[in-house]
Amino acid sequence: MTDAERARAQRVDAVLPALRAAAAAADRTATFPDSHVGLLREAGLLGLVVPEKFGGLGGGLRDLAAATYAMGTACPSTALAYFFHNTSASRGLLPLEAIDAGLFAADDVPVVRAFAEKVLTRMADGVWLANFASEAVKTAKANITIATTARKVDGGWILQGEKSFGCATGVADYYLTSAKLEGYDTAEGLATFFVPRDAAGVSVRAPWDGLGMRATANNGIRLDEVFIPAEEALAVPGAFTKMLTMSRGSFVGNQLAIAAVYTGCAQRVYDETLAATTRKTFADTGEPIASSPVHQVLIGEMTRQLRTAYLWLRYQLAIETAEPPIKPKQEVFTQWRLGKGAVTEACFQVALGALKAGGTSAASMDGVAGRALRDLAMGLVMTFPAERGMLEVARIVTDATANELFTPAPSAADRPATVADTPAAEVAR
Ligand SMILES: Cc1cc2nc3c(=O)[nH]c(=O)nc-3n(C[C@H](O)[C@H](O)[C@H](O)COP(=O)(O)OP(=O)(O)OC[C@H]3O[C@@H](n4cnc5c(N)ncnc54)[C@H](O)[C@@H]3O)c2cc1C
Repeated sequence: MTDAERARAQRVDAVLPALRAAAAAADRTATFPDSHVGLLREAGLLGLVVPEKFGGLGGGLRDLAAATYAMGTACPSTALAYFFHNTSASRGLLPLEAIDAGLFAADDVPVVRAFAEKVLTRMADGVWLANFASEAVKTAKANITIATTARKVDGGWILQGEKSFGCATGVADYYLTSAKLEGYDTAEGLATFFVPRDAAGVSVRAPWDGLGMRATANNGIRLDEVFIPAEEALAVPGAFTKMLTMSRGSFVGNQLAIAAVYTGCAQRVYDETLAATTRKTFADTGEPIASSPVHQVLIGEMTRQLRTAYLWLRYQLAIETAEPPIKPKQEVFTQWRLGKGAVTEACFQVALGALKAGGTSAASMDGVAGRALRDLAMGLVMTFPAERGMLEVARIVTDATANELFTPAPSAADRPATVADTPAAEVAR
């Protein structure tokens, strides 16, 4: 870590005791602790990934992953809600990059820039921006399908629809909401709106009684004829797709910081299991419980799974942050489709090991093992299951190979060198 990254991480470390202290009650009551908003705001952490020139702390994806990982060891629900706030920054950073790359027509630049800067300065000022994309409407082709509509009216837009999940419902100051412009059926029509929490026509869906990650305030909202002024929207057709072309990885990038939440949670339950099983001893031999063959097997397996999660996560972080980039975007994307499932499945196995190692007495709703098992189960279904990622990758690699089979044969002069033609030193390299 650089000195600046270390300084930002210290701000995160400073809030962990309060997160840890509130975690069990937050899970039990399925409520996001209101006091966490002020805590994170005063620590400056709502502007963690906002560039300094907009008043933020100037962190990047490495900072975000470190923060959500560390918070995941203390309260995974808070870590996840905090992740979604930070992902709102992509709606500021990526459009600015797209402007710099010359993707916008000159006429559109001022409005796009104004919106992007508003996202970033609000975050830096300590405004909590929940990110509402997901909906209950599903299509076979897409990960996220947006059916919420935006209809143009005098001075702004009318939103109509429903957002099925969204961390920090009723907590965030604004819901940064994706909707499709009326008359568009493609991603060109996707637009983003600042929806104030208390705007007329916004209502909270029934309380979300999740299996895990229960304290994320993940209820979602209904939008019934909600008016949003024009200056609170990025509704330039094509803006969303232009923005996406600028991300380093999948979708808007930074998704790996979700996997970091789950890895933090897995590390915590691993540590607690080791502590408990090495502290408690057998009454007859005086040896720690951890020394039993069954615990040795379980701990070996938990260690393997935890290290697997780190390897996938760290590699993804490396290829999404290396400067200059070391992998083409398509490869970064493909790696993530595998990595998301690999990390979350491995983390879940750590919790499963903890459950077995702790035995019946540790298998309670509110113990660390029980909570981790439930929280980490959400990682298996969130965004997409591992199997879906593998299917996508299988299609990508088989299509690529199939295409290679149909390339025209090169002429003898153009034929690429094969191993047989290549000097031994080249092969070794
Ligand atoms: C704790 C938590 C917090 C979250 N916070 C937010 C948030 O703040 N903002 C936000 O926007 N989203 C949030 N999400 C939503 C998250 O990203 C969703 O998991 C995702 O958008 C939809 O997941 P799903 O496909 O499982 O949806 P579901 O509605 O549960 O899907 C139903 C079923 O359809 C299947 N399915 C859906 N699409 C396809 C497809 N194309 N091909 C095959 N099968 C499909 C699913 O696998 C599942 O079996 C959160 C989720 C969780 C668990």
